[in-house]
Amino acid sequence: MREQPVTAYDDNNIFAKILRGEIPCVKVYEDDHTLAFMDVMPQAPGHLLVIPKTGSRNILDADPDVLAKTIPVVQKLAVAAKEAFDADGIYVAQFNEPAAGQTVFHLHFHIVPRKDGEPLKPHSGAMADVEMLKAHAEKIKQAL
Ligand code: 5GP
Repeated sequence: MREQPVTAYDDNNIFAKILRGEIPCVKVYEDDHTLAFMDVMPQAPGHLLVIPKTGSRNILDADPDVLAKTIPVVQKLAVAAKEAFDADGIYVAQFNEPAAGQTVFHLHFHIVPRKDGEPLKPHSGAMADVEMLKAHAEKIKQAL
């Protein structure tokens, strides 16, 4: 197999700072292993992110045991977001390295409610109003 250069996890990334409480987030769910919070630049109403508390850049260097604890939370929140936003579908996305569109280098899963015929806003587009994000987080929490 061809050797690939490995870039180390850097805990100065924005999600590591959120996990340490150094910068705020609009939280939706938390357990011992996982945190879920609203994306500040939502591609659709209800766009949230699920992150493991254990640091890895992305899925390529993640511990399989961490993935095994994270995916059930992704599922739980996908179901809740679908109900909360009366969505026709749920887009789950996860990018690995810049070539694939990754901009924050702590493993995360996007959960985006989709409605028939409603296009997604651009990835990392406009910042949303924090009060609106709080209201959306409450809707998802009610559906959990
Ligand atoms: P990706 O790395 O998968 O390309 O996307 C990172 C996501 O994190 C983007 O959707 C972006 O809107 C979101 N994001 C970037 N900075 C922050 C932040 O400080 N807080 C929150 N809640 N989301 C962020």
